[in-house]
Amino acid sequence: GARRALSVRVAPLGLLHVVVLGSDRTEARRLEAVRRDFVVNVGHELKTPVGAMSVLAEAMADAADDPEAVRRFSARMAVEARRLAVLVHDVVELSRLQDGEPLAAAVRVDVDTVVAEAVDRCSTTAGSRGIGLEIGPDTGAQVIGDAELLTTAIRNLVDNAIRYSDTGTRVAVGVRVDEAADVVEVSVTDQGIGIGPADRERIFERFYRVDPARSRMTGGTGLGLSIVKHVVAGHGGEVQLWSQEGQGSTFTLRVPQAPPRQPVRAGADAAD
Ligand code: ADP
Repeated sequence: GARRALSVRVAPLGLLHVVVLGSDRTEARRLEAVRRDFVVNVGHELKTPVGAMSVLAEAMADAADDPEAVRRFSARMAVEARRLAVLVHDVVELSRLQDGEPLAAAVRVDVDTVVAEAVDRCSTTAGSRGIGLEIGPDTGAQVIGDAELLTTAIRNLVDNAIRYSDTGTRVAVGVRVDEAADVVEVSVTDQGIGIGPADRERIFERFYRVDPARSRMTGGTGLGLSIVKHVVAGHGGEVQLWSQEGQGSTFTLRVPQAPPRQPVRAGADAAD
């Protein structure tokens, strides 16, 4: 069948950007080129930690009779190794999602639980960066999908909200059911640096970063939002972004609500 292509629709005012799912056969060739670019970019991204590790290995050998220096170099090497591991993990995750494999485990998912799990995994980072992490009330909202992938997507958003904010600010995560549209919304709001209009159109691209130095320094791979976009697309949903430079951002995932559970047929257990 036709490949499903992702595109970004720009709403009036330039504040709201919606990532929607389109379908276009002519996208096939463009996607092939994108895939080639991706491999080139991955190679390029791998060079940074691998290069640093080899320099550090040499420095360690040279400093063999200075135990303090050896300790310092080996600690930095561990940081680079971790960065490499995160990058490899994200690349594998993203290429699995890009292959358009159907969701391995499409089951009824409790959204409050997924959000709580994602927030929980970010609480240490938030604490160490002095950012208050708030979570809204439970809603009982349910979607059909893959809980692990949804947790990853929400975690990526919360992680970004923390990394692109300053100490003393707050990050709020909330769930809401849009009954009219039959959609479950998860929003992540920060009071961080915000994203300018031109960048808003590009940040969902693989390896696109507004400030590459800040991204790397805080452990970013440049793939987080790309993963979010693909996970949400796999669930038949969309991502909305509201942002203003210097004021903050809100990323909202909108995923179709699970149909109500089939009621137990009347009479089934009222035989007598
Ligand atoms: P990264 O690992 O660089 O954070 P992402 O794909 O998650 O990669 O995000 C791409 C870029 O989008 C980031 O480098 C950053 O410039 C920008 N960005 C993402 N989330 C936010 C946010 N909450 N506030 C400001 N900028 C953001």
